[in-house]
Formats: sequence, structure tokens, C-alpha cells
Amino acid sequence: VQYQAPEKDARFLMFDVFQAQKIWANIPALQEFSEDLVNAVIAEAARISGEVVAPTNQPGDAAGCEWRDGQVFTPSVFKEAFAELTQGGWLGLAGNPEFGGQGMPKMLASLIEEMMWAANTSLYLYGTLTVGASLCIDAHGTPEQKALYLPKLYSGEWTGAMALTEGHAGTDLGIMHTRAHPQADGTYQITGTKIFITGGEHDLADNIVHLTLAKLPDAPAGSRGISLFIVPKFLPAQDGSLGARNGWASGSIEHKMGIRGSATSVINYEGATGYLLGEENQGLAAMFTMMNYERLSVGIQGLGSGEIAYQQAAGYAKERLQGRAATGPENAEGAADPLLVHPDVRRMLLTQRAMNEAGRAFAVFVGMQLDLAKYADDPQAQVLSELLTPVAKAFLTDNGFQGAVLAQQVFGGHGYIREWGVEQVVRDARIGQIYEGTNGVQALDLMGRKTLRDGGGALRRFVDHMAQSEVDETHQKALNEALDRLVRVTAFLVDHADADKNLPGAVSTDFLDLFGLTIYAWLWAMMVKAAPADEFGDAKRATASFFFTRLLPRSIGLEHSICNSSDAVMALPEALF
Ligand SMILES: Cc1cc2nc3c(=O)[nH]c(=O)nc-3n(C[C@H](O)[C@H](O)[C@H](O)COP(=O)(O)OP(=O)(O)OC[C@H]3O[C@@H](n4cnc5c(N)ncnc54)[C@H](O)[C@@H]3O)c2cc1C
Repeated sequence: VQYQAPEKDARFLMFDVFQAQKIWANIPALQEFSEDLVNAVIAEAARISGEVVAPTNQPGDAAGCEWRDGQVFTPSVFKEAFAELTQGGWLGLAGNPEFGGQGMPKMLASLIEEMMWAANTSLYLYGTLTVGASLCIDAHGTPEQKALYLPKLYSGEWTGAMALTEGHAGTDLGIMHTRAHPQADGTYQITGTKIFITGGEHDLADNIVHLTLAKLPDAPAGSRGISLFIVPKFLPAQDGSLGARNGWASGSIEHKMGIRGSATSVINYEGATGYLLGEENQGLAAMFTMMNYERLSVGIQGLGSGEIAYQQAAGYAKERLQGRAATGPENAEGAADPLLVHPDVRRMLLTQRAMNEAGRAFAVFVGMQLDLAKYADDPQAQVLSELLTPVAKAFLTDNGFQGAVLAQQVFGGHGYIREWGVEQVVRDARIGQIYEGTNGVQALDLMGRKTLRDGGGALRRFVDHMAQSEVDETHQKALNEALDRLVRVTAFLVDHADADKNLPGAVSTDFLDLFGLTIYAWLWAMMVKAAPADEFGDAKRATASFFFTRLLPRSIGLEHSICNSSDAVMALPEALF
């Protein structure tokens, strides 16, 4: 099945559900984006993702990347598609117009990103890291740094990479070894070894700009002593011309379960020249600008995987003939009925569809909060986007992976072999749950920093917002019950977390799932309210009803498992593991 970007759903979300035009009318920076312009961007992104990017997906996986003497070669089919992506300005879509970006709203960019992720996850990784690096430089760079790096990154002539992880320091970056020694000329000498660096070295761009975390010699211990540096592959002059090769190199690339077209390097920094980005010892906070962007984007990666998997499985279930419908033959002329007649196959497809369509609405909603925070200086939107970022990263990637596995199941044995491509989606989707902060760490962030720290205040305000929205009355009661449940569970956690120190960690993943399901219930009730009286609307209503009947009740079980003590998790002594 050829990937088809969900154009109609994208327009429905932008203009019918979230009414972007009304919001943008009050924001000077976004007023110029008319419905026609947005529709044209969506249509062109749909064309590129389907016709240019998607055809490189399977060949890129088969070819993989190659390391030779420090040089890294990406699949040859990637070159042209990446050039088209960059020359079309897709990496600068939401970038700062002062430096060559197009200043488009994140709401829209979220939808476009999904298309690119779905079409080819490995290829788009080179893009997303570039977008993330430019965001970080835009937020923390000096005027000279912005003028030098941003135009090159927006145009994709140079790409970005994010160098945090070391062999012994993954989740716990505070214990990293990489060092930065200040030089007389104001630069720093970077020495150390980073691992797992996506797009750290490759052959798709003229220069590769690492944003690297390292510690100054006199830095305070732990995560308060980390600084952030721009460490380019070639040292550029202020006019952007490339000078000497910098002192770092790829030591090897990893052989991975999936995203095989994405080059993951060990990077050895041997006295490489680095330029401080932001303030000394404030590097982790600055890096979070990039990481928060990447977290939402990786969430959307999960969504893209879920969507392409669904499209493949739905297409297959209509064609493949096996067995007969329980109510009598539906394809009496044929040897058997299509898979789609079987309720269990429908359960799998509808689960994927319900999670994908709510997930898409969720990504657009988070994008909208980022726009409001950035362009309308709305402090509540900033708090809300911070609350929702870990949920977007983890819930979207968990459901994207589960959707891919469900699609594989719909294919039966044919889902396990290479030819149909769905096993690649499973392999590619899995990493979303692991990198960019594991989903376990996202759940701890939601629980600790975002919920318990303010006594559940931000979460409570978001619940009020959801409760006051206009939703379809068919689902109002179920939504109210779900919101009450979330409030009840949050209050339980706020009340018990102090006395039972292991409780938050013991139930954080369940809590994130409960929060995610509740948000999806709200989004489904909003989508039904906005759904038109046509086939598209009928599909929304039917999928919503599946969500409320078959998926939302999982939240009842989650409440039971969360509102407990940590005893069951902590009782087994180490020696018995
Ligand atoms: C293909 C790939 C690409 C990557 N790309 C990049 C990149 O571009 N740049 C970069 O810097 N890194 C990158 N990474 C690294 C990635 O972000 C880390 O692997 C990830 O953050 C987890 O770190 P770790 O592997 O050291 O696992 P660990 O930190 O050892 O964690 C192992 C397990 O323990 C859990 N855990 C750890 N600490 C805690 C805690 N305090 N509380 C509860 N649970 C905990 C984790 O959730 C996890 O399940 C990449 C990794 C891969 C595999």
C-alpha cells in the first residue's frame, strides 16, 4: 500500500476542531496564514511525503548505512529525497523568518512532521534533529551564532545532531565525562566520547552541527555542572564558508533492530573546537529547548508509524480472503470472506484508528499551546505544553508501536516476513519508546516535576479546561466520569506520595496511560462535535463510539492499580530477582 497522507483529517483538525483561524486572528505573527495557504502547504507535504519520501523507505532499510574509515554513507536512495525535502524549505517551516525560516505555526508543522515520519522514519531523523538544533540556537545563541547557523540549518545545507549520551551516562547525564577546556580565544576544547549519536556523521550535508554537552574543569558536580557547545564538523567563517575539519570523528556506527537508514555513531572528540551556546553550567536547561522539541517530534514519529501501519493493515484486511462472517457469507461468490468481516480483526483496526486519530488531534493541540506560548506570550499555554510534552512523547510512541504490532497481527504470517513492509514498521517504531528519554522517564517527569511538584495544580487547570469545552452530548457523561476519575487519582497521589516514597515511581507509567486515555476521550468528544454529516463524519462517530465503549474503560482498571501502595512492587528482595 502506497502511503497516503491524512490530508482531510489534517484540515478537519485545523479548521473545524481547533478553529485555527480564530486563534491566529489575534496573533500578529500568524495572521497572514490563510486557510488557502495552509491547505496548499498540507497538499504539497502530502505529495512529497507520498511520492518522494515514502518510496525510499523500504530500499533504505534494506541498504542500511555503512561506515568506512570514519566516513558514514547513508542509503543512496536517500540523497535525492533529502535534497527535495531541504530545497522545498521543509526544515525551516516553523523557523525564525529573520534568518530564513518560514515562521509557520507549530500546529501546522505537527501535521507535516507526521507525514514525513510516516513516509520514512530513518530519513526524517536527519531532518528533525536539524530542526531541533536550529530551535535551540534560535533560543540561546548570540546574534552572530544565529546569523551564521540558522540559515544553513533551515536550508538543510548543514544538519544538526544532539550529543548527550555516553557509554556510562544515558538517563543520568549528571555523571558524564566529556570535558570542555576554555581557550584564550574564547572557544573551548572538547574531549570525550559520546555514543548513540543520531546523524552524528553522514553524507547528506556539507556540514554537521553537533550540540554537545560537556563539563568545564571547575564545574559543579551533577547536572548543574553541564554546559552546551556548538561543535561543527567543519569550522565555519562568519560568512558561512567552511574552514578546517574539526577534531572529532565517527568511531563506528551501530547495527540496530530498526531505523537502519539512520546512522547512529560513536563520536570521539579529540580536542575539538566548541563554541559555548548559552551560559556556562546552564547547558542542560538550554538543551531542554531542543529536547522538548524532539520529545514532541518523537511522539509524532510514533503517530506516523501508527498511521502507515494502519493504512497497510486496513488495505490488507479488505483484500485477503479467509473464513466466513459469523452472520453468513458476505462474499458468497468468492472462496471466503475478506478478513474485515471478523470482529477480532475489526477490533485491531479500530484500536489503531481510534488511537491514531486522537493522537493526531493531541499533537495538533500541543502544537497550538506551543504557538500560544511563543507568539501570544501566554504563560498558561507554556505550563500546559510542559505538562503535556511527556505524555505526547510516551503515549504517542507506545500507541504507535502497539498499532504497528496490531497491524502485523492483521497480516498474520505475512506480517512477519519482509516483503509486505509491515515488519519494518514494527522495527522502526520501537525506538520511539526508548530514545529521547525513555518512556519510563517521561512518566516520572509527568508524575514528579509536572504533577506532584505543584500539588496537581496545572493538571487540575487542564481538567477544568476540558470540562468546560463544548463536546458532543453523546459522550459528555463518559467524558465527565473520566475527568472525575483523573482528578480523584491525582488527589490520591498528591496525598500519599510523601508517606510512600516509592509510590510515584511504582505507578507513574499507569498514571501517564490514564492521563493519555482521558485526554483522548476529551479529543474524541470534541471531534464528534465538529464532525460533518457525511461519510467522513460517520467514520469519526463510529470510531469515537469504539473508543468510548472499548478503550476508555481501561481507565477503570488503571485507577484500581494506581490507588494502592508501592508494596506489591517493592516487596520482592533483590536476592530473589
Ligand atoms: C538508535 C538510538 C539513537 C539515539 N540517538 C541519540 C542521540 O542522537 N543523541 C543522544 O545523546 N543519545 C541518543 N540515544 C541515546 C538514548 O537517548 C538513550 O539510550 C536513552 O536515553 C536511555 O539511556 P541508556 O540507554 O543509557 O539507558 P539507561 O539510562 O541505562 O536506562 C535503562 C533502563 O532503566 C530505566 N531508568 C534509568 N534511570 C532511571 C530512573 N532514575 N528511574 C527509573 N527508571 C530509570 C530507563 O527507563 C530504562 O528502561 C540514542 C539511542 C539509540 C538506541
